[in-house]
Amino acid sequence: MRAQVDPQVCTLSGYCSATSPDLFVLGEAHAEVRRDPIDDEHREAALEAEAVCPTAAIRLIDL
Ligand code: SF4
Repeated sequence: MRAQVDPQVCTLSGYCSATSPDLFVLGEAHAEVRRDPIDDEHREAALEAEAVCPTAAIRLIDL
């Protein structure tokens, strides 16, 4: 799995990094993905982050 954050949509709300700090960190202008690709161990955390993002900025791509 791979995660992308749409910088045009992210509002830096921080829900993703609070929910899944292993996968997301807040950057200057938008959240950034910390693992690429995302291994199976972190798959559930990626799904949780996608679910809590209030602006649907996180896109998950199955490899
Ligand atoms: S939860 Fe969504 S809007 Fe908030 S920082 Fe993460 S990617 Fe951006």
